[in-house]
Amino acid sequence: MITLDLTLPDTRYPIHIGRGLLDQVELLLPHLPIPKVAIVTNTVVAPLYLVRLQKKLAEHDVEVTPIILPDGEDHKTPGNTESHFRRTAAWSLRTKNYADCPRGGVIGDMTGFAAACYQRGAPFIQIPTTLLAQVDSSVGGKTAINHPLGKNMIGAFYQPKVVIADTELLATLPTRELSAGLAEVIKYGLLGDASFLSWLEEHMEALLAQDPDALQYAIRRSCEMKANIVQQDEKESGIRALLNLGHTFGHAIETGLGYGAWLHGEAVAAGMVLAAAASAAMGWITADDVLRVETLISRAGLPIKSPDLGVAQWLELMGHDKKVESGTIRYVLLKALGHAIIQPGLPKSVMTKLLTGRHI
Ligand code: NAD
Ligand code: MG
Repeated sequence: MITLDLTLPDTRYPIHIGRGLLDQVELLLPHLPIPKVAIVTNTVVAPLYLVRLQKKLAEHDVEVTPIILPDGEDHKTPGNTESHFRRTAAWSLRTKNYADCPRGGVIGDMTGFAAACYQRGAPFIQIPTTLLAQVDSSVGGKTAINHPLGKNMIGAFYQPKVVIADTELLATLPTRELSAGLAEVIKYGLLGDASFLSWLEEHMEALLAQDPDALQYAIRRSCEMKANIVQQDEKESGIRALLNLGHTFGHAIETGLGYGAWLHGEAVAAGMVLAAAASAAMGWITADDVLRVETLISRAGLPIKSPDLGVAQWLELMGHDKKVESGTIRYVLLKALGHAIIQPGLPKSVMTKLLTGRHI
């Protein structure tokens, strides 16, 4: 097991990464203010891991209430958050509650948001069970739910007490979901670490085969990079926006096709190809660099072509993105592979070429 620390002005928390950590409840016990915990998970993950965790906690006299929500991005809604509150409140009206969630990013985002709001803040633990959640959504304190107006439109910054990433839990993850997580891993290499990008090129097969050492290193390096950025800019007033590489285009894909048609990581993957192509159109990276990005993304089992939403719909959807400031879309582009920058606006000619070009 390796442990990273994320230090912020108001809090500090450990991120544990390794095999078999779900059974090591001593990692989470010190973070329980009272011996009572709500385990929030979904109908897919509950049959796999809930009883195991529940038993381990019971051995330490911790009272557990499971909250099992429906599975999927289209359930990350205000309605389910409300049902979350009602179940939490019915269980324990007066005590500050504890939300602890073995889950993917959907449940984690929603539970984090519910924990941020419940009694103005209930402590919570993240036990991510997807690669995407282990390398991205469980670290950094962004919590949110979707709204018809946009993805992650309603949310809060709210940090967990501890993150426990057990790589063994990924064994049951569908291959498509593993690939979706790899999109965010590739993102870290592209945005800030060219040598990690080369490492990924060398170890893609090992990662797809879930080689434990390769997985642990990829998760560790991803969390290190995310923690480093979040420590410098917790509330996204500056460099944290770099983590949105591929996301402005990706969110447009997710909203344009309807939540759930493409996985988040798939949309981000195709979005990163568009970001790379836009960077080449700006003259910052070469056509060979774009090909290198496409090759790695494709080897990870991810799409490199975006759906044809039509230029007008693309621009309309990106206009709703939270990264828009005073009418200008702030793109995250690449000055070089391993060096992302924030670019306010792109020439219309570049956008039109991009959104009608070979990457669509
Ligand atoms: P998810 O939570 O929907 O999980 C993917 C699927 O895998 C689901 O069907 C889930 O039930 C299943 N699953 C989860 N763990 C499993 C396991 N161990 N074995 C078998 N099946 C398992 O999706 P996700 O990719 O984890 O998360 C996507 C969400 O994360 C999106 O809503 C996205 O907006 C959000 N996100 C948030 C942040 C952030 O900073 N808060 C960052 C990135 C993504
Ligand atoms: Mg993401």
